[in-house]
Amino acid sequence: MADTIFGKIARGEAEADRIYEDDRAVAFRDLHPQAPTHVLVIPRKPIPRLSDASEDDESLLGHLLLVANKVAKHEGLSDYRIIVNSGEGAGQTVFHLHLHVLGGRSMRWPPG
Ligand code: 5GP
Repeated sequence: MADTIFGKIARGEAEADRIYEDDRAVAFRDLHPQAPTHVLVIPRKPIPRLSDASEDDESLLGHLLLVANKVAKHEGLSDYRIIVNSGEGAGQTVFHLHLHVLGGRSMRWPPG
């Protein structure tokens, strides 16, 4: 797959406002926040989009959600929204799997 800015952040080769990291995941603030808290959670493994994940990634995908919970707790959020855009038509612009963790304001449904 093509390298992306998130791949560089995962490897520590690009700057980011990191708030959490471990051996499998990194969480950092979105450059253009869409809510008072807007954090991205990425796997270190460069999976381009959610639909590219395989059975082997089952544990990793669960781990990313648990990291999102840690981020929410760290940010003092009781309510929050997790978004994964998979593919251009869904709004994905960076092709390294990421979870958006959004909070700090009320959310509408359905999303745009
Ligand atoms: P997507 O549209 O792919 O679901 O989300 C990509 C997100 O990455 C966007 O919210 C965008 O603001 C954010 N983003 C793009 N480039 C960078 C960057 O270099 N650093 C950070 N921290 N966020 C970025």
